[in-house]
Amino acid sequence: MVSRVIPVDKFDLVIFGGTGDLARRKILPGLHRRYLAGQMPEGAQIVGAARAVLDDQGYRDMVREAITEFGDAEDQDEAKLAAFLEHVQYLPIDAMGEKGWEKLAKMIRPGMIHAYYFSVGPSLFGELAERLQLYGMADENCRIVVEKPFGRDLESARELNKVLAAHFDESQIYRIDHYLGKETVQNLMAVRFANILFEPLWNAQYVDHIQITVAETVGVGGRGAYYDKSGAMRDMVQNHLMQLLCLIAMEPPSRFGPDEVRDEKLKVIRALEPVDPHHIVRGQYNADGKEQSYRDDAGDPKSLTESFIALKCHISNWRWSGTPFYIRTGKKLKARESEIVVVFKDAPHLIFGQSSGQHCNTLTIRLQPNEGMTLGVTIKDPGPGGMRLIDVPLDMTFAEALGEEGSDGPDAYERLIMDVMRGNQTLFMRGDEVEAAWGWTDPIIAGWEERGEVPKPYEVGSSGPEDAMMLMHRDGRRWREIKE
Ligand code: NAD
Repeated sequence: MVSRVIPVDKFDLVIFGGTGDLARRKILPGLHRRYLAGQMPEGAQIVGAARAVLDDQGYRDMVREAITEFGDAEDQDEAKLAAFLEHVQYLPIDAMGEKGWEKLAKMIRPGMIHAYYFSVGPSLFGELAERLQLYGMADENCRIVVEKPFGRDLESARELNKVLAAHFDESQIYRIDHYLGKETVQNLMAVRFANILFEPLWNAQYVDHIQITVAETVGVGGRGAYYDKSGAMRDMVQNHLMQLLCLIAMEPPSRFGPDEVRDEKLKVIRALEPVDPHHIVRGQYNADGKEQSYRDDAGDPKSLTESFIALKCHISNWRWSGTPFYIRTGKKLKARESEIVVVFKDAPHLIFGQSSGQHCNTLTIRLQPNEGMTLGVTIKDPGPGGMRLIDVPLDMTFAEALGEEGSDGPDAYERLIMDVMRGNQTLFMRGDEVEAAWGWTDPIIAGWEERGEVPKPYEVGSSGPEDAMMLMHRDGRRWREIKE
């Protein structure tokens, strides 16, 4: 078997925003897991840099707590945790002022990889970029990692790209979309491009439609004020769902290289047609006695922001012309589930008769929970009773199929951070891709704003507003049930 842990060279990683929620929840536990997996080299240095006034020990205590709270239970070996924490340091810094910068420049060691993780709000990206340059840390070998949201429309995304491009080359900028770091997403590419089986069928001639669902059970909770300025379209569709759509729809790249893959994704985004307003359903969750409504959570009784969206879109190119893509995402839904379903057309002629129960084939790609893929095939119902047909799943749940190897892989953040260290941008968004995605979303959002549309209410724990069901029913299709 090919080794699962590809070593990375010695690095200095500075996490701006190192005391924040994302650092505590994902980045630091992820680095700890990579350390346990043996991927973090001896001599690697992690510097938390944020506003809080802490010393190294105070920060290590915070990191320890974060790993205990958000890391895996089986990874809590005290001696190994202590050894990991030796790699960790802290520096109080002000992104908007000069405090801490000279000291940081001295901590950065020559002759190794330098990565700067901007785990702070986007309004600080420019400040950080400028000061990294000013204090001599923006050398040509360094990398910066930037978090979502990358802008809130085309204009602000362009502005951010411009600010970053003033100090860094595109090859140094890693725009994270953690969906791209998921095992199944990469497996989707492997299934498509390493097997001859699927690709000949992967087009409008054989695919009836494609569904992409990202359902969450959580509401907007404490993030209500932030979310209310964003909504499901900006927060989820423009980035995560569009990335999934691109990977499903793109042409095979000539090789699995960063620009080859991203060129193909960009072509998909550029081929997306404007969306007919009748093909968009927006929703807001209602209060249900126990839980608050979206408007309560957002702190605005008149909010018109959507916590749910479903839409139908089309890609105008030779491969996909005529095949609709239905996408939906929302909060406080029935279950937490991310899934892509490729629904193939019916066999051209049913030799077993209408009553046999023949169904179309489906390929289901589950991102969470239970990452894996299922191919729905039709077989004969065993036993007597004539030719009755049933659907059975050919199931490839990674944890089952691959045992420990399948369940124990790095999570999305871990994988992506190690890709940064390796200098591999394949799973990161390029500036033109992000702009093209906003270029498609902006007019859709402007449309409903101009029309003053009010999102439809939906029940907490449901599958979204009734109208979202109708969006498919009208076409004689239906959504897959949202379930754990
Ligand atoms: P947070 O508010 O929890 O943390 C912000 C961090 O930035 C803190 O460490 C704070 O000290 C630091 N900071 C703020 N102003 C500073 C300044 N002037 N100088 C130096 N440091 C400063 O935020 P978060 O939830 O960790 O999010 C960070 C970024 O990641 C945001 O862009 C957010 O949109 C994005 N993001 C977060 C999540 C998540 O799950 N939390 C998920 C996806 C993307």
